[in-house]
Amino acid sequence: MTTIAEKLQAVRERIAHACAAAGRPASEVRLLAVSKRFGPLAVRAAAAAGQREFGENYVNEGVEKIEATADLGLTWHCIGPLQSNKTRLVAEHFDWVHSVDRLKIAERLSAQRPRHREPLQVCIQVNIDGAPTKAGVAPEDALALARAVAALPSLRLRGLMTIPEPAPDFEAALAVHRRTRALFDHLRAQGLPLDTLSMGMSDDLEAAIAAGSTLVRVGTAIFGARGAA
Ligand SMILES: *Cc1c(COP(=O)(O)O)cnc(C)c1O
Repeated sequence: MTTIAEKLQAVRERIAHACAAAGRPASEVRLLAVSKRFGPLAVRAAAAAGQREFGENYVNEGVEKIEATADLGLTWHCIGPLQSNKTRLVAEHFDWVHSVDRLKIAERLSAQRPRHREPLQVCIQVNIDGAPTKAGVAPEDALALARAVAALPSLRLRGLMTIPEPAPDFEAALAVHRRTRALFDHLRAQGLPLDTLSMGMSDDLEAAIAAGSTLVRVGTAIFGARGAA
């Protein structure tokens, strides 16, 4: 059996290789450990191996883990779909949210962010490949949404997030990730101070890093296969 510490180390090596292959310093890419469906003990094992940033899809499950590991002072990212009735929990408990895809949700998060906490760090989720059933703003609407989010007082806009459809091979994954990178560059050229491109998961992190990802979200390769809900 491979331990979480060993799997984490293997993922760090994959990231380092991908950065070297792309001619990028390894310090440019952060690793987010996606702990959904795993309990606080798995989070503690990863934290003991030096992992500080964790991602959760399901708000209630995430809040339970945040509270159960509060003694560790970890940083928590909400990466799952957001409904209006969950924004308060996200605003009160998380440090980051990657899945903002409409203004109404952003306005609620800003209004509900407790005054004593830092601004909530936000990425806008983009539906880069136009999959009809998927969350995310259409690429052509991303600039307007980014400007509106950047103006909200208790949010700090940091970048873009995408979850493309699984690609058949590296080249196909790279092509899709490059489209997100181009959109990211376009928004920056329009004056938005973005520093975070959240793309790449267990299966496609090499392609995402080749295209310019600054944050990869990795679950399975660290914690193992997830059971059903
Ligand atoms: C589950 C999930 C991940 C991690 O996926 P793996 O393939 O297990 O690495 C990353 N991002 C989001 C938004 C997810 O829901």
